[in-house]
Amino acid sequence: MDRPRHFETRAVHSGEHRAGAEEGRDGNFYPISTPIYASTTFSHPSVETIDRILGGEEQGYSYARYDNPTVRAFEEALVSLEAPEADGGIRAFAFGSGMAATHAAFASAELTNGATVLAAEQLYGSTATLLVQVFGANGVETRFVDAYDLGAVEEKVAQLGPRAVVVESISNPLLRVADIPAISEITRASGAALIVDNTFGTPFLQRPLDLGADIVVHSATKYLSGHGDLTAGVVAAGPPYSDALEQLRKLVGGVLGPFEAWLGHRGLKTLPLRMGRQCENARAIAGHLAAHPKVTKVNHPSLQAHPDHATAGRVLSDMGGLVSFELATEGREAAFAFLDSLNLCVKAPSLGDIYTLAIHPATSSHRELSPSRRERLGVGENLVRLSCGIEHPQDILADLDQALERL
Ligand code: PLP
Repeated sequence: MDRPRHFETRAVHSGEHRAGAEEGRDGNFYPISTPIYASTTFSHPSVETIDRILGGEEQGYSYARYDNPTVRAFEEALVSLEAPEADGGIRAFAFGSGMAATHAAFASAELTNGATVLAAEQLYGSTATLLVQVFGANGVETRFVDAYDLGAVEEKVAQLGPRAVVVESISNPLLRVADIPAISEITRASGAALIVDNTFGTPFLQRPLDLGADIVVHSATKYLSGHGDLTAGVVAAGPPYSDALEQLRKLVGGVLGPFEAWLGHRGLKTLPLRMGRQCENARAIAGHLAAHPKVTKVNHPSLQAHPDHATAGRVLSDMGGLVSFELATEGREAAFAFLDSLNLCVKAPSLGDIYTLAIHPATSSHRELSPSRRERLGVGENLVRLSCGIEHPQDILADLDQALERL
């Protein structure tokens, strides 16, 4: 079957091989959903076949740390969403968590002794710590830049000659939107690999590989799976990175299990429906809060006042499902009181789930930073972040309003 043209159709069908359909195996039925292949190893009619598969001369399954049909179905579906135009070449690799995927993405870009990596100041805290602590201990120097200041990116790339530049398509918690086409022009000219964490964007809003990125990484724990019930990560890239990723995953072994891969694949099927609704809800909530007397500032790219409103219009197909806002009442106590007053919205870290989730970034995602660094990044004690779910927007708004009234 040719690859369907529309994202929604690919999300539903991609990766499913409808095993046995051609041969009419197993009598007159076959599974329409790729089964969970809970098998650590795979046999073949002849040892020659096993030999060719192990030698990489033939595609096939041999040992589950190398490849597994359920995991591969999830990976193929992801490629069809992240890189529908790619003529072969691009592969996706599923890992046991977003951090394992991020580690593999960095290693595949040859972040080894003597290399410099230029990272966005606004990166997810654990990603920055991974670079500084783990790669730093192996002789990699990490330098940071304001990724939303293209002049600064250009200057630092010219000055440092980094082996890789790392940015997020949409940042946490201020929802800054990176100009991936412009950054990729800079990295292409310098020979640096551009690594984009597209966790907040998802391929529904942006496909960084089409915009010039070399490697895309996801915490599939978030929007891709979408139901808050599994931990997973994915990296998508073409050669030479894909070859390195395949080898790294075999050797380091942070593979995704078949049960999680099946759940992740099932989640992908409703990504466009969920994400569309989450973007709609976020837009309605941002507009409502922007006019609320107990809120002083709202961050969402749909708002004219957002610094990346124009960039978002160019590089995203919609404005994303997260909103953050500052309460008019200063201090941690008020933020905690507000969060504790919520009845419907779930107080918990993470994002991208069907449930609306609310957190206090200063004591969760940005907890490890010093107060002065948090201040500099705009993460104050009165900042709250919402990951909008798929509930009816009026129910979410009613919950937010009643909690704001109590302040
Ligand atoms: N990248 C981003 C942008 C994240 O927000 C997270 C987790 O919150 C990760 C990577 C790490 O993902 P995981 O928790 O699945 O390891």
